[in-house]
Amino acid sequence: MNKTTDIAALAKDVQAGNRRALARAITLVESGRKDHREDALALLDALGTKKQALRIGLSGTPGVGKSTFIESFGLMLTGMGKRVAVLAVDPSSARSGGSILGDKTRMDHLARDPNAFIRPSPSQTQLGGVARRSREAVALCEAAGFDVVLIETVGVGQSETVVAQMADLFVLLLAPAGGDELQGVKRGIMEMADLILVNKADGDLKAQATRTCADYAGALRLLRKRPQDPDGFPKALTISALKVEGLQTAWAEMETLTDWRRDSGIWNVTRKAQASYWFEQDVRNGLLALLMEDPQTAERMKTAQDDVKSGRKSPTAAAASVLQPLRDLLGTRVS
Ligand code: GDP
Repeated sequence: MNKTTDIAALAKDVQAGNRRALARAITLVESGRKDHREDALALLDALGTKKQALRIGLSGTPGVGKSTFIESFGLMLTGMGKRVAVLAVDPSSARSGGSILGDKTRMDHLARDPNAFIRPSPSQTQLGGVARRSREAVALCEAAGFDVVLIETVGVGQSETVVAQMADLFVLLLAPAGGDELQGVKRGIMEMADLILVNKADGDLKAQATRTCADYAGALRLLRKRPQDPDGFPKALTISALKVEGLQTAWAEMETLTDWRRDSGIWNVTRKAQASYWFEQDVRNGLLALLMEDPQTAERMKTAQDDVKSGRKSPTAAAASVLQPLRDLLGTRVS
C-alpha cells in the first residue's frame, strides 16, 4: 500500500465508518515498518482532526470486571444509538492476568453489535511505542465517526498516565474491599480519576461495595480541588456490571462532567495540553531512537550505562560522555 490513491481510498472508507477499513488503518499505524509508517502518516494527515469523540479512559486491576463493564456499558450506549469503539493500552504484553485486553471473546455481544468496534491491544512491549500507536488508533476511531471511544488499561505502572493523557474522562473501576483499607490504590491514580466505580455491588457483595464506595468518596473529598472539576467531582458510585445496575447513573455523571467541561472551555484546554504533551513525547522518543541508530552513540550509551551501574561514573558524568560528542558534532558548546 504505497500509492497515494490507496491511502485516499482508505481514508474515505474510514470516514464512511467502515469497520474493516478502520481495522486495516489501525494495523497500518501499529506497524513498525518504515514504508508503513509513511503511509500511516499520510493517512492521518488525510483524515485530519475534525470530529471529536468522547474518549473515556478505563483502568482497573485484572478481575475487577473491566470487560464485563465494557460489554454492559457499551451495549447500553449502542442502545442509545451511539457508536462505540473499544481500544486497549497494555504496555507489558498482550496478555494480562490471563485475559487479553480488548479481546472480543470477553465482550462477545458488543463485538457482534454493528455499532461497536473492538480492537485488542497490540503485542508491544515498549510503552512509548504503545502510547503513540494507541493515540493514533483513537484518532482513527474519531475519524470513523465513533461517538465514544473507551480506552482500557490494567492498573500497572505508567499505563494509567498514558491513558489519562489521551482521554477526556478517566474512570477507575474497583472491587468491593474487605475491611476499611483503600486497596492500595496509589494516590497518583486516585488523583487522575474523574469517576470511581465500585463494581460488583450485587448479591452478597452489595453492602461491602456500598461501604467501599463511601470510603473512596471520603478519600476523594480529601484530595486537592482540581480546576477541571465542577462541584461534587470527582465522584464515587457503586455499579454492577453483571446485573447492569447503576450504569445509567454513571453515564449521566459522565455527561454532566463533560457538558461542564465543554461549557467552561476546560475540554479544549485539556485537549490542547494533551496535544503538546504528545508532541514533546514524540520528539523526545524520536530523538533518542535517532541517536541510537548511530552505532557509535549506541556503544557510548551502553558503556555509560555500565559505568553508572558499577558506580564508576555519576549519572551526570555518564550522560555528559554521551552528549558531549554530539554537541561537538553539532558545533555547540555546553552552556
Ligand atoms: P477484568 O479482568 O477486569 O476484565 O474482569 P472481568 O470482566 O473478566 O470479570 C472478572 C470476574 O468478575 C468474572 O467472573 C465476572 O463474571 C465477575 N464480575 C464482573 N462484574 C461483576 C459484577 O458486577 N458483579 C459480580 N458479582 N461479578 C462480576
